[in-house]
Amino acid sequence: MLFEIIMTICFFIIGASITSFFQCAFYRKINGPGAFGEKRSFCENCGHRLGVIDLIPVFGWLLLKGKCRYCGSRIPGRYPLAEAIGGLSFSALFFVSGLSVKTLFGAALCTLLIAISLYDVDTRRIPNVMNLLLFIVTAVYVICGGLTRRGLISSLAGGLVIPALIMLLAFLMEKKTGRQALGGGDLKMLAGTGLLLGTGLSILNILFMSLFGLVYAAVRRKKKTDAFAFAPFISASTFVLYLFGRQIGGVFFGDVWSSL
Ligand SMILES: [Zn+2]
Repeated sequence: MLFEIIMTICFFIIGASITSFFQCAFYRKINGPGAFGEKRSFCENCGHRLGVIDLIPVFGWLLLKGKCRYCGSRIPGRYPLAEAIGGLSFSALFFVSGLSVKTLFGAALCTLLIAISLYDVDTRRIPNVMNLLLFIVTAVYVICGGLTRRGLISSLAGGLVIPALIMLLAFLMEKKTGRQALGGGDLKMLAGTGLLLGTGLSILNILFMSLFGLVYAAVRRKKKTDAFAFAPFISASTFVLYLFGRQIGGVFFGDVWSSL
């Protein structure tokens, strides 16, 4: 029991640290490496170098009550929030699957999903290299017989046919409304996640990510016409289906599940 608790905490720390690393790396990439002329992390407002406590994911922010220790300016809550989500995702992996191949691969998957989501939130685009990596990692997992051993046809249909159908749908919606419904990066991402999940779960993935997106659109306060990054919703849905695909697939498709 003690071992499980310690491992869950370790997985949380790994996930939160990876998220923290990406946030920092992307911030520098987007704002230029020379901001404040420092190589180490610094406060966005006053440029003061950050100490060890300031850099602890999630808890650093809590200890400082969300304010810079040096100038008192507010540190945006999205940083500790993202770190907490990254940490909890990693903990969930261990909690559900223990020390296993599924957890190991899940950690790689999770790392990529976190990176893609953060980059999309910051820039509204997903670099091709990230989507390519996602595709390669999932392809390796599928070829090694991962997830459900449904066979290659199901994976190929999930990775190619479903994204193609979504592309068609997005194209038609765009023609009708004159607004971009889904970005090209999102579609490429769906090829990677579709390959991983197979046909049945890919259909559920579309359903879940749309639901998550709709809930978010309903609760956020900004103008309704604003577009928002969609990768976090694809990531959340994919991760849930990766962890609980068997159970959720069974609920939606019953006995047919194993052949989808
Ligand atoms: Zn400051």
